Amino acid sequence: MPANPFSQAPMTAEGRAAWDAILADPRRTLVCSDFDGVLSPIVPDPDSAWASGPAVDALTRLGERIGKVAVVTGRVARRAVTLGGFGGRAGLGTMSVLGVYGLERWDADTGEFAEPEAPPGVDGARAELPGLLARLDLAHARVEDKRLSIGIHTRELDDPAAALARLQGPLTDLAARHGLRVEPGRNVIELRGPGHDKGDAVRALVAEYDPAVVVFAGDDLGDVAAFAAVRDLRASGRIKGLLICSGSDEQDALVALADVVVDGPDGVAALFGRLADDLGSVA
Ligand SMILES: [Mg+2]
Repeated sequence: MPANPFSQAPMTAEGRAAWDAILADPRRTLVCSDFDGVLSPIVPDPDSAWASGPAVDALTRLGERIGKVAVVTGRVARRAVTLGGFGGRAGLGTMSVLGVYGLERWDADTGEFAEPEAPPGVDGARAELPGLLARLDLAHARVEDKRLSIGIHTRELDDPAAALARLQGPLTDLAARHGLRVEPGRNVIELRGPGHDKGDAVRALVAEYDPAVVVFAGDDLGDVAAFAAVRDLRASGRIKGLLICSGSDEQDALVALADVVVDGPDGVAALFGRLADDLGSVA
């Protein structure tokens, strides 16, 4: 079995054990990845966050060699499938895209989308949002309507961090009045329904596919719940787990929880590619 020394990206002992377990039994491996900041670069307009070619190529090579690939994202599933170019791609035939933190789903093998009704509070919050932003003198903040959730982005404003701080209280109040919760991220605050996060999404995938090893690659606060779920499952002895932080200057919440930190989508591509290399030719 090939060794896995990662000279440029040191890996924890738990991460190395997971890497070896993947090589030993690739078909019982579940590889999960966030989309933005992991498979695609962060750009000012989230609607233009096309996937990185090398990252998707590497994920595809992995997909040919392991049991199951899933993208677990806060995005609408339909948009992630489009921006990723995942539809009909040979090598990603096992892929599922869990959108809006697992509330939506697309499966590559059927090509079908499952898209539930939006929680009622989203309509109420959406209606109040323009007035709230105008009162805060933040009418130019980009509002990303994801149907089941709404993201308010500050990246394009003069002082994104100050704008985010100014939004926090009023958006928390707005969310509470409409039975929603706030989800902070990299220069974004999202309003969405209660009771579902990426940790729930990962646990559901584990229950469905019974993997021996779970990989999760993330970059942002929304991925903390997924990392915690993998760490809990790993601590219970249920699985081995490899947690990959796609590092950035904007967010370091995952660094302490990760087994390996790589440099953004290019680093993710290199790590996935290395794993595919170690797995060798497709059987
Ligand atoms: Mg992300």
